[in-house]
Amino acid sequence: MNDWNDNMSRPLTIRSSTSVVGVIGDPVRHSLSPIIHNVGFSSLGIDWVYVAFEVPAGRAPQALDAVRTLGLRGLSVTMPHKSEVARHIDKVSDCARALDSVNTIEVTSSGDLVGHSTDGDGLMSSLAASGVSCRDRQVLVLGAGGAARSVIDAVGRQMARRIVIANRSAPAADFALTLAPGKSFAIDIADVESLTEACLRSDIIINATSIGMATDSVQTALSPLASTLISSGHVVVDLVYHPLETTLLSQARAAGAMAIDGLGMLVHQAALQQHIWTGFMPDVKEMYRAASQALS
Ligand code: NAP
Repeated sequence: MNDWNDNMSRPLTIRSSTSVVGVIGDPVRHSLSPIIHNVGFSSLGIDWVYVAFEVPAGRAPQALDAVRTLGLRGLSVTMPHKSEVARHIDKVSDCARALDSVNTIEVTSSGDLVGHSTDGDGLMSSLAASGVSCRDRQVLVLGAGGAARSVIDAVGRQMARRIVIANRSAPAADFALTLAPGKSFAIDIADVESLTEACLRSDIIINATSIGMATDSVQTALSPLASTLISSGHVVVDLVYHPLETTLLSQARAAGAMAIDGLGMLVHQAALQQHIWTGFMPDVKEMYRAASQALS
């Protein structure tokens, strides 16, 4: 990845009046969020800056105290702090409570810290930007981890007709089922017959497993689905964004299906965070361009 300075359209001028927001996580030093957010603030023409804070597991309560003490204007939260923050913050949105996960901290005018989760709505915005809606559609979600849960919650709220959750471990899938009661069903991702039937019946397939993520060259070549399960009528979405063109997305394009990458979700959830903090929507296209340039 390039250094973020390479991706800024113009250098930031930090003043004593500059508003500061950031991300807490561990690891966080390779996060794309500073690039995405600083380009977003630049597009809004406001005097805000976004930085990364490496905060080890178990130290989220101290980070919340630091937000108050240092007068930060907001915070993004990533692994491993999402659940701990949800339990220690002053208030949580309904969505963050259901997920037991906070990815955004809003600082209200009275100084209260409110936890939100923008991941699922970020994916919905990314799909909408490609003209895709989950309303009344059959959706197959691969995975039942943190990202999958936010997706299942959002897909359920967007009135999908049926959601099939395909996961490796049953307990995680069982918890995910509670997020979209009455319309979600769980299958074992290794059960070829059930997975084949679920693909045949689905309009939209969303990979929310980490299969295909760039950890090493062998992992990157993997796909959660056999090519034969994808057809031209599918919309295939991969939450993995590193690499941007995953094996699953290549399979989808080869089958004539619509393929949507995970960077759109990352950028749209960041734009929603900026809306919570500032009341304004930044330029999502500029943010996407900077992030994809940083990945290349
Ligand atoms: P997570 O909580 O660790 O969940 C990982 C999921 O992948 C679990 O469902 C796990 O199944 C499954 N999995 C992992 N290896 C597998 C394998 N070999 N075979 C079958 N299933 C396997 O991680 P996460 O936070 O949900 O993230 C998942 C992916 O989404 C990552 O690649 C992450 O980068 C990406 N993501 C993207 C965005 C975005 O904005 N685009 C946002 C968040 C996450 P088990 O339950 O059986 O372990």
